[in-house]
Amino acid sequence: MARYIFVTGGVVSSLGKGLSSASLAYLLQSRGFKVRIRKLDPYLNVDPGTMSPFQHGEVFVTDDGAETDLDLGHYERFSGISAKKTDNITTGKIYSDVLKKERKGKYLGKTVQVIPHITNRIKEFIKKDVNKEDFVICEIGGTVGDIESLPFIEAIRQFSNDVGKKNTLFIHLTLVPYMKASDEIKTKPTQHSVKELRSIGIQPDIIICRSERSIPLDQRKKISLFCNVDIKNVIQTVDVKTIYEAPISFNNEKLDTQVLNYFNIKSKKNVNLNPWKKITKIILHTKKSVNIGIIGKYVNLKDAYKSLDEALTHGGIYNNLKVNLIRIESDNLRPSDIKNKLQDVSGILIPGGFGKRGTEGKIAAISYSRKHNIPFLGICFGMQLAIIEFARNKLNIKKATSSEFKSKGIPIVGLINEWNKNGKLIKGTDKDLGGTMRLGLYESKLKEDSLVRKIYNSKSIKERHRHRYEVNINYKEKFEKNGMIFSGLSPDNKLPEVIELKNHKWFIGVQFHPEFKSRPLAPHPLFSSFIKAAKNHK
Ligand code: GLN
Repeated sequence: MARYIFVTGGVVSSLGKGLSSASLAYLLQSRGFKVRIRKLDPYLNVDPGTMSPFQHGEVFVTDDGAETDLDLGHYERFSGISAKKTDNITTGKIYSDVLKKERKGKYLGKTVQVIPHITNRIKEFIKKDVNKEDFVICEIGGTVGDIESLPFIEAIRQFSNDVGKKNTLFIHLTLVPYMKASDEIKTKPTQHSVKELRSIGIQPDIIICRSERSIPLDQRKKISLFCNVDIKNVIQTVDVKTIYEAPISFNNEKLDTQVLNYFNIKSKKNVNLNPWKKITKIILHTKKSVNIGIIGKYVNLKDAYKSLDEALTHGGIYNNLKVNLIRIESDNLRPSDIKNKLQDVSGILIPGGFGKRGTEGKIAAISYSRKHNIPFLGICFGMQLAIIEFARNKLNIKKATSSEFKSKGIPIVGLINEWNKNGKLIKGTDKDLGGTMRLGLYESKLKEDSLVRKIYNSKSIKERHRHRYEVNINYKEKFEKNGMIFSGLSPDNKLPEVIELKNHKWFIGVQFHPEFKSRPLAPHPLFSSFIKAAKNHK
């Protein structure tokens, strides 16, 4: 039977619960166990798909097309396990499931309540689709004490009672601040947070103490005493210089050992930390670097392009280089600023995006990279804009646009169903925005002798998608005659998936999001190749 590890957070948010869970997953996996990681989010959105990146950072997409919390990206990158739809649940989804059932009369006239109906649904989710896993790690979003997370905490309390205490482990992550004025490390917030957790029925078995400096033994003893946790299970996590050090640091502090001790299980193998040591060394000590300009709407928000930033870093690791991300806000980017803003970059990247705002600046940057032979990677929206730029400036279709912009013009990029009915433009529906996109893994066939085929070293690839609009295939011939090749197509030849320029050093646009599949221990070939091209530029 699977053992369940629940990870809660206290004191403040953003303590790194996701990273701690992901590191623990790696360590347990490396010791020979089968692991699954899940996230339980207390907000009311059914999924984060409709949330602005300003609110919640990036929306991560799984192979099976779920729009999920960005923590699932951490999980995948650290554990190497591809997440599934069933690995992320929100309060919104739980309630909508329960309410749908209620409308169908499935509760047989009973009063539908948070306990037991909501909590039962949460418990079902925790156990769902578990297949021979040794460990299921469940991270509970939010901070203990929030009204929103109460049903989840109650559900995991009951869960432990249902499957037995020896099969469940509660880890609580807290902040142990350092007070400069008194030169002291403070344990009181942790004590209070554990008190809060106990008041809703949960006694943590392991406390992970996040701190900016090492916590002296006396202080750890104090936490052990007041929080009723064995001193060996008071584990510190001192800020690391790079996130890739986290698995090494948790192993040093014996988190994985203590987890196995708790369950009374012997490790199957020795932990292998060498890959993390190798990449940490590259990240921290490599002198050579390359500048990549990212032009987007959300560049000022740290987590808005999380997987992308990571994938570029992975490309750097592959090339033994540090990648400096030069973030350029597209909103106020005037075509006349382009030269100045891009003079120090060796590669230009336009990430995925939505809506018209900021597109003219991006199009001007694409034009600049096309004309000046600067390595360019356009992702999803970035590819669509590269198509529009080429149509306007090379094919002389001055009014080329995307129907997403809701402006008059010729929609070279539009909704799939806009052209399929007798080639006539018809309006797509945008009433229900949740889950109405092309989502998840789709296959692309790669053209012989193309750059992209060389990079992937494969005729066919599967990548994750998240978009509503498509490039109109009817323009293919016209583009190709003028030097832009449609080098990746959907298996039915109807949807352009990859474009590239014939007479350019490195210019690729992809309709999918390769960044979701890049991992530090397995950098994505497109990013490795893009960074290599940038390294050789100038
Ligand atoms: N807005 C574009 C579309 O919906 C691109 C989406 C994206 O970049 N992920 O097709």
